[in-house]
Amino acid sequence: MLDVHAIRAQFPILSREVNGKPLTYLDNGASAQKPQVVLDTIQRAYANEYSNVHRGLHTLSTISTENYEAVRGTVARFLGAPSEEHIVFTSGTTEALNLISYSWAAPRLKAGDQIVLSVMEHHANIVPWHFLRERQGVELVWVEPDVNGDLDPQAVLDAVTDRTKLIAITHLSNVLGTVVDVKTICAAAREKGIATVVDGSQAAVHMPVNVADIGCDFYAITGHKLYGPSGSGAVFIRPERMAEMRPFLGGGDMIREVHRDSVTWNDPPMKFEAGTPGIVQTIGLGAALEWMMDVGMTSIAEYEADLRDYARARLDGLNWLNVQGQSAGKAAIFSFTLEGAAHPHDISTVLDKKGVAVRAGHHCAQPLMEYLGVSATCRASFGVYNTREEVDVLVDALELCHKLFA
Ligand code: PLP
Repeated sequence: MLDVHAIRAQFPILSREVNGKPLTYLDNGASAQKPQVVLDTIQRAYANEYSNVHRGLHTLSTISTENYEAVRGTVARFLGAPSEEHIVFTSGTTEALNLISYSWAAPRLKAGDQIVLSVMEHHANIVPWHFLRERQGVELVWVEPDVNGDLDPQAVLDAVTDRTKLIAITHLSNVLGTVVDVKTICAAAREKGIATVVDGSQAAVHMPVNVADIGCDFYAITGHKLYGPSGSGAVFIRPERMAEMRPFLGGGDMIREVHRDSVTWNDPPMKFEAGTPGIVQTIGLGAALEWMMDVGMTSIAEYEADLRDYARARLDGLNWLNVQGQSAGKAAIFSFTLEGAAHPHDISTVLDKKGVAVRAGHHCAQPLMEYLGVSATCRASFGVYNTREEVDVLVDALELCHKLFA
């Protein structure tokens, strides 16, 4: 079993206090804290090794380019991608999904074509498809989870028609914690020639991911949730799909030649990476993924499953707390409301006074909020450094909320 105290010691921020109490950081679903090795890597990259990438022939540019490009291989290993050439760097999942919508989907989908997606999607995996609905008459077909928050792969496949061109689905719900059987969905979609986009923003944080095994066309991850810097991320793209894609943003790096009357593109993946990228962010992402692989994705998953079971048992003991999403294999992500009138914002404010950081709001998942019949929830989302003691702190703070608002 993973030594959580040794893990915690690597995160400087976890030793600070908030409102005079030890920090209990349970907002990992929004963004995770950074281990010392990531902070050191960022410091070194700026202090000793910084220059622009892909452009210079001088020593610092060469070092910077090597460090930056090495991360492509790290991401490929982390995702089980066959080659680093299948990895495009992005600023995060939002950019990745917009890239797919603009570069792959927009030129091929026409009025009446359908995109199947679940109501559990984050807005980042909804709005880029709404663009296609608004601009070119593409239809969005929605699939709902069951009462436990489980999404039956067959329900997704039942929604497919001969007009379906794309299935865009989350691997792990940022609100309910539900893990979706994307492998079954992708295998069936592939047989029908339907493209598959998997939003791995949350899943890649909590479990081993292997895109070759999943069989998806696109898989997006975001650095800031993976214990890495904000403004970093990547998307795996199957080479056949890459070959079908037009460029996304135009500028430096993504071109081969530019003339007054013509322009030609760089080879993928560079074709989709315009301008000076998030150099140090990406180098920091590499350090974060190496750190996660050193800890071990299986160890992380096992440790967090134990934490989930403990948290679930403690939260189930609070009969005035409505926890959304009861999927057996869910991640340690708990969205809840309190019976009575207390708004999630009020609960979050009281918890903060006890040093407990949770997220309150719609979690960029308004279709799911509508489906659940709530406008907002509080969400406690656990990471690799959280402990059973912190679950107890959360429960004590919730009991205080109950007393205050009942
Ligand atoms: N998808 C899911 C499931 C998320 O939880 C998030 C972040 O909250 C995103 C997409 C957006 O990712 P990013 O912050 O990288 O744009």
